[in-house]
Amino acid sequence: MFRGASSGAIHNPLRARCAERVRKMRAMQLAEPGKPLRLADREIGKPGPGQLLLRVLACGVCRTDLHIVDGELPHPDRTVIPGHEIVGEVIERGARAEWFGIGERVGVPWLGSTCGDCRYCRTGRENLCDGARFTGHHIDGGYAEFALADARYCFALPQGYAPEEAAPLLCAGLIGYRALSIAGDAQTLGIYGFGAAAHIVAQVARFQGRKLFAFTRPGDAEAQRFALALGAAWAGGSDAAPPEPLDAAILFAPVVVSVANLTRRDGEEFLALAPRVPVRTSVEIFPLERANEALARVREGRINGAAVLVMPERTARSG
Ligand SMILES: [Zn+2]
Ligand SMILES: [Zn+2]
Repeated sequence: MFRGASSGAIHNPLRARCAERVRKMRAMQLAEPGKPLRLADREIGKPGPGQLLLRVLACGVCRTDLHIVDGELPHPDRTVIPGHEIVGEVIERGARAEWFGIGERVGVPWLGSTCGDCRYCRTGRENLCDGARFTGHHIDGGYAEFALADARYCFALPQGYAPEEAAPLLCAGLIGYRALSIAGDAQTLGIYGFGAAAHIVAQVARFQGRKLFAFTRPGDAEAQRFALALGAAWAGGSDAAPPEPLDAAILFAPVVVSVANLTRRDGEEFLALAPRVPVRTSVEIFPLERANEALARVREGRINGAAVLVMPERTARSG
């Protein structure tokens, strides 16, 4: 295996891999729903027209990934690589994908592509497109060293975020932002379920001058402390009554299959707002190979903030 090889002449493992006829990468893939992900050697794709080849720097672990791994979402008829909060560096571009520069950092969200042609796509409601294809579900995602992405659905990322800090913005952040928009101008806001999305939405809500009440699993003192640290006026169990009437409540319930389809416009708005707040994400980092452990921790609700996979090569290659 190349990984273990050493050569005085070659300092860049990626370049060395490019020289190989079939370029390989490591990925955590789903072979069978309900079973743990398996580490596999997969071929690195060539970017087609409109596509970017990204070196994955970090990929968030989202609750939707659990639904995919568990087979609760209609499963594509092939092995898929999950992961739809990808922060990657552009290393190759197909034709008509040149507006992102080589070396630029981009974000890849859940909405991987749409038909571009139907009445929804043509009226700014692409999230409703019947032909929508999702990253880490229909399209191989970011639990891998490399990923292909449709450049039209990639986001430029705000400055000042490390890859692992930016990753949770791409789904948890977007979902929270969308939910907050739906809550209108509610001044007293309840947030039920204090996970990855809530910890971001709390910061945006405070920035907007709202008063925040956080409801966690009963007895989860750590999550309540976390919510208070992020500016909640009160935190308690979901079985408790709020200390004052709520104008609106946002429910981030773990039992709900939360396949939120968001438009590119939602993403652009939120990613422009995030550095102004500024949103700071709390992340717990796992190397790629420990994706199953990260998923288990998300399942049990034992992550304060968001779980993020990072690619070990990132550190191995530096210097
Ligand atoms: Zn469409
Ligand atoms: Zn997600």
